[in-house]
Amino acid sequence: ILQVEHLEKYYQKRHVLHDINFSVDKGEVVTLLGPSGSGKSTLIRCLNGLEAYQQGTIMFEGEKVQPNEKTWQQIRQKIGMVFQSYDLFPNLTVMDNILLGPTKVQKKDRNSASQEAVKLLQRVGLEDYQDAYPRQLSGGQKQRIAIVRALALHPDFMLFDEVTASLDPEMVRGVLNIIGDLANKDHMTMIVVTHEMNFAQEIADRVLFLENGRILEQTPSKTFFNKPQTDRAQQFLDSMD
Ligand code: ATP
Ligand code: MG
Repeated sequence: ILQVEHLEKYYQKRHVLHDINFSVDKGEVVTLLGPSGSGKSTLIRCLNGLEAYQQGTIMFEGEKVQPNEKTWQQIRQKIGMVFQSYDLFPNLTVMDNILLGPTKVQKKDRNSASQEAVKLLQRVGLEDYQDAYPRQLSGGQKQRIAIVRALALHPDFMLFDEVTASLDPEMVRGVLNIIGDLANKDHMTMIVVTHEMNFAQEIADRVLFLENGRILEQTPSKTFFNKPQTDRAQQFLDSMD
């Protein structure tokens, strides 16, 4: 479903991604691991056009992505993304946050979109919060809404960038469970950046390990967590215990 070839990314003169090559199959769950500053966020932001890249190609669903804003807008309807900071619109209710994409971008009928939104809210246990504003929600609740908002567009692919990193510990599990269900029950294709190693181990089919903007290894999850191929990845795993 996604192929990345020879991707190179600079921030001005700073070379932050070097010759990135990988692909993701439909239904596959890839976790992207690596030390802080290794380029994980930059890489996944390149995959939905939030960052420009200077060289290389991205193929999505069999087509080469032409890096212009119009193409990215179309692709962002198929690739959902949830970040570390909850990016809900503060002046809109939960329901309006969720319906914005389906009604404004995808021009769906508001009634059917809101029925669907209610189902998604039930799924994450927040059906009673339709009329609440983001400021009235906890961090974990906001993240669950951000996930629902992404799912309301029926994405083919999801990107999660450390969605639990700014949550209180007791909120983390609820959010991880939702992502876990998406992976295991819905077989959603996804790339997950996380510092939660147990969670990564639970859901990943494959691990991409990034350091200094290079993919040092791409290993099936079982192998990676038993014995990674590189010393550097082993050190990383040891440091996470
Ligand atoms: P973390 O685990 O801390 O989130 P990361 O692996 O996501 O780290 P990135 O945020 O992708 O790392 O950063 C990769 C490199 O690019 C870092 O050296 C960072 O300082 C640099 N960088 C990130 N964003 C920018 C930016 N907007 N302008 C310039 N340099 C940036
Ligand atoms: Mg990051």
